[in-house]
Amino acid sequence: AADLPHVTDADPTAKALGYVEDASKTTNPKHKAGDDCANCQFYSGGPSGYGPCALFPGKSVNAKGWCVSHSPKAG
Ligand code: SF4
Repeated sequence: AADLPHVTDADPTAKALGYVEDASKTTNPKHKAGDDCANCQFYSGGPSGYGPCALFPGKSVNAKGWCVSHSPKAG
């Protein structure tokens, strides 16, 4: 299946959550080294590319992205 539309940094929800396409580029003090969408419990995609995030219904986020709602995957 084709990717859902990618969340952009300009998306209103993205702005509210401080989402960035590239976790290494964020200057948000809440970001912890190594945290990205790929290891967040709200992400259900693969280890690279784009995948769904529960907080962005109908869209996909970058596996290497990040936002302030990051919560580590269990296990
Ligand atoms: Fe990425 Fe998790 Fe934020 Fe969704 S909630 S954008 S998967 S860091």
